[in-house]
Amino acid sequence: MAKVVFFTGAGVSAESGIPTFRGKGGLWEKFKVEELATPEGFFRDPAKVWEWYDMRRRAIAEAQPNEAHILMAELERECGDVWVITQNVDGLHRRAGSKKVIELHGNIWRVRCLECGATYYEYRTPLPEYPPRCRECGGMLRPDVVWFGEPLPVDALEKAWDLAKAADFFVVVGTSGLVYPAAHLPYVAREGGAYVVEINPEETPLSSVAHEVIRERATVGMRKLFPRLVRECERGRT
Ligand code: NAD
Ligand code: ZN
Repeated sequence: MAKVVFFTGAGVSAESGIPTFRGKGGLWEKFKVEELATPEGFFRDPAKVWEWYDMRRRAIAEAQPNEAHILMAELERECGDVWVITQNVDGLHRRAGSKKVIELHGNIWRVRCLECGATYYEYRTPLPEYPPRCRECGGMLRPDVVWFGEPLPVDALEKAWDLAKAADFFVVVGTSGLVYPAAHLPYVAREGGAYVVEINPEETPLSSVAHEVIRERATVGMRKLFPRLVRECERGRT
């Protein structure tokens, strides 16, 4: 059975109403992301950063997975060896039903204590206070996401690398391809022999890595590609 790997970015959630960072309507047009998504920004003003995260958490709680998330989950149910490597922190792939999900940049619903190191899911939004406090020790919490300048979780990164190397079909959906090391993955996949497809309404640095480019929004692109993906992942099945 062929292995299909999706590599997703903020663009896959854009049609669920969750703004991307870059591009039209992106968060960088309105906010100084370097003040909000960096360790320096957090320690300068934890309450302000938490207020921003709580606003995003609220927006995500009200959003629904879109057809792109849903088709990826459906493919996994039909064929099995289907994986999602995501840079998104919103958890929408799992809410759509995907089980084999690698979160490279953490999860906005998870918190981490700066005192005792506890990590746990905290789904309340709005939060009772900014910054919120650890339920174990009362220490200050931070969102358990990867900020600019921080290393990625080693296990997730290794797993993602292995999947990219082993992929037969590698589909890049809605990422600007500017955030490293994640943006290396399509190169790894291509060198490993995968057929690489990009779905993005705009050209990106990853477009030249892809064998094929679908210049569409994530939902439309996934709808077009889906029948081929089904055939591909059923290839070799007895
Ligand atoms: P990005 O904001 O840098 O790039 C978004 C990309 O999506 C662009 O290339 C844009 O052309 C494309 N896009 C816009 N609308 C689209 C649509 N409807 N369909 C398909 N593509 C569309 O996002 P990135 O590459 O994921 O990197 C930014 C970082 O920001 C990531 O590390 C991620 O953790 C974080 N982030 C996450 C979320 C989320 O969890 N939903 C939202 C914003 C940012
Ligand atoms: Zn604690």
